[in-house]
Amino acid sequence: MKDSEVTTLDKDIDFNNIPYWDVVIIGAGPAGMAASLTTAHRGLTTLVIEAKDSPGGQPQFLYAEKRIIDIPGFPDGITGAELSARVFRQALDSLVQFHFEEELVEIEDTEQIEKEDPLKRVVTNKGSYLCRKVIIAVGLLHFPRKLSVLDDLHSKKVYYKNPKIGDYNGQRIVVVGGGDSALDAAVMILERNGYVDQIVREDVPEGKVDTLARVRNSGGVLFAGCEIINAEFAGDMLALKLTNGQTVNCDMVVVQIGFLSAKETFQRLKVRLKADGSMAVDPYYETSRNGIFAVGDVHGDIKLITVAWAEGIQAAIYAFKEITSPYWLNEKRLRDQRITLIGEKISQAAEHKNRP
Ligand SMILES: Cc1cc2nc3c(=O)[nH]c(=O)nc-3n(C[C@H](O)[C@H](O)[C@H](O)COP(=O)(O)OP(=O)(O)OC[C@H]3O[C@@H](n4cnc5c(N)ncnc54)[C@H](O)[C@@H]3O)c2cc1C
Repeated sequence: MKDSEVTTLDKDIDFNNIPYWDVVIIGAGPAGMAASLTTAHRGLTTLVIEAKDSPGGQPQFLYAEKRIIDIPGFPDGITGAELSARVFRQALDSLVQFHFEEELVEIEDTEQIEKEDPLKRVVTNKGSYLCRKVIIAVGLLHFPRKLSVLDDLHSKKVYYKNPKIGDYNGQRIVVVGGGDSALDAAVMILERNGYVDQIVREDVPEGKVDTLARVRNSGGVLFAGCEIINAEFAGDMLALKLTNGQTVNCDMVVVQIGFLSAKETFQRLKVRLKADGSMAVDPYYETSRNGIFAVGDVHGDIKLITVAWAEGIQAAIYAFKEITSPYWLNEKRLRDQRITLIGEKISQAAEHKNRP
């Protein structure tokens, strides 16, 4: 087969006995799923490795019941769970292969060459897989930042993700945090007949202005510029003392104050990281290691499903180009070098002109 030939995947492929995968994708969130559809549609054997027991990423695990309203083509919104299920069905139909409850450990370089491409070995906690390209789409790793003042209570009334409650029946809920996740949680509780007191460390919540307006208009009460300094049981309720001297009583606390950095995991992969600990990528979503791409929340400033999709799709197409026409990579690098040289010449000329 010529390098440039494209095949669609054959239903009879014995995926358990292929010598290597064209593409291994780590993470079955929006970015990884979009990448997997794109590579499989182009006839590349594609394996997705996912740490959890099912696909979907954050929309499935953090806000399955929320109606997502900012995805083009869904004027009435779509829940995180439904969106995840639809994309998963599409991926299965395209013959993407999945390994669930398996975690990436590291990615090794090998001496084995396939069509001028050195193969990589993806090592997980359950096995290892040879492949030509790797796409990392592990998102934020889902380890929520915790509050020790609440954890010390060892109470079932403290949640670090939205509890699955259909109707709050007038219960008082404290939501901690002022970002999008915390504001979304508050809106959901208010819509389900709960009362919300929102505690925000910053003077002005960082989340979307329109979501904050929805919280306020639905009766949510904001305690801005303060934190919880003490928490204790008060009968069936919790009493939370704030730095502003007030005490708020509640039936339940939902904490949404972001996630721990995934820096440690990323460092193991030996890819270049940015100052904030996220992965550095070039305009082709390739990391500092050739043939390893990174897409979605793992590196991005704009954390949205559609952006994760778009990046996954682009990286998949770049991976496809590199697999089907190996010289494309060199051409793209040469072009980048030329652009850099032109840039340098322009700044040298400007410097020269400004000299006294
Ligand atoms: C509360 C909340 C509400 C949001 N609302 C919206 C919204 O309305 N609209 C919108 O567009 N965006 C929204 N977002 C943002 C959006 O969900 C993310 O930008 C998007 O999920 C990023 O996709 P991803 O694939 O990069 O990462 P993720 O969704 O985080 O998926 C990464 C996947 O990788 C897996 N993984 C992690 N580590 C490993 C490992 N070592 N090995 C194997 N697998 C691993 C994880 O289990 C996960 O399944 C919201 C986010 C939150 C938290």
